[in-house]
Amino acid sequence: MTVKRSLVERLNQEGAICAEGFLFEMERRGYLTAGEFVPEVALEYPEALKNLHKDFQHAGSDIVEAFTYNGHREKMRVIGKEELLEPLNRAALKIAKEVANDVPEGSEPNLMAGNISNTNIWNPSDKNSQKEVRGMFEEMIGWAVEEGADMLVGETFYFAEEAYCALEVMKSSGLPCVLTIAPMGENIMRDGVTPLDTCKELEQLGADVVGLNCFRGPETMLPYIKDIRTHVKCHVGALPIPYRTNEKQPTFFNLDDYDNCKCSAPHGRTFPTALDPLFTNRYEIRKFMQDCYNMNVKYLGVCCGANPMLIREVADVMGKNPPAMRFRENMSNHFMYGTNKRIPEHIKDYGDKA
Ligand SMILES: [Zn+2]
Repeated sequence: MTVKRSLVERLNQEGAICAEGFLFEMERRGYLTAGEFVPEVALEYPEALKNLHKDFQHAGSDIVEAFTYNGHREKMRVIGKEELLEPLNRAALKIAKEVANDVPEGSEPNLMAGNISNTNIWNPSDKNSQKEVRGMFEEMIGWAVEEGADMLVGETFYFAEEAYCALEVMKSSGLPCVLTIAPMGENIMRDGVTPLDTCKELEQLGADVVGLNCFRGPETMLPYIKDIRTHVKCHVGALPIPYRTNEKQPTFFNLDDYDNCKCSAPHGRTFPTALDPLFTNRYEIRKFMQDCYNMNVKYLGVCCGANPMLIREVADVMGKNPPAMRFRENMSNHFMYGTNKRIPEHIKDYGDKA
């Protein structure tokens, strides 16, 4: 077996990819309910979850992140299934661990990441809610450590103080820690701290990687990443959503359908079930990743909306050669747009009218 480098070793060298977006993709594949967004799939259809991890691995993801996003005590209470909390977490972690070790002959094993995230009950003026959140983090981090996580990811925090609390709990495990935040449309954390100051503080608190994930597409995430990269010394992470957010609508929560779709969603917004026409193409994701990589941002991935095609673009930017690279586009043999000598001229000539 080849050596298995730590997260920081990988980041000091070519970089590391973390594919995310399990909620959206499992929903699209028919294994999870949009709106509720609880990862029960780890218990109900473990093979489906395993397949998604395998597909991301095939496309170049170096990190298999356990799908425990939203799998916390509060969310399980909302759906009345608190008793499934621990089994769900352990099942997701075991699946991730299995996939992380199951790499093609001769390749380096992946890293398995435990995961905690925004709880949506954090209240800056209520110490009890904060205590409860800390307890939720502690139990989830405890299970991640017991199931053999190589690293921890805390993500999608929109309260700075909640992110600090998550990092504190994560750090107590002794494992490498990635902490990425997700400022909402007001472009500031909900407790009034700027994204940059939040990341600076997270660095001071000992995060190995700080940065942004989710909510924002390439256009409205990149400026923050540039700013953060300039002001911190630790590694920086960037995991946008593959949707065309813009200055007026910085996050996907309030993104309008530019074409005034005649068949709008019954709930009146494109998020989360009618975002499809706002999807970025692979070249937009590639450009974002290249811009990041050029400024030494080397913890990269794609969040909600991600698919293996996009992860392969990230891998290519980093100079990795995952199995899926064999199937990169090759337009030279296309029947109408190709350059191959065998393609008849009269078919090529028809290309503009096709
Ligand atoms: Zn996301």
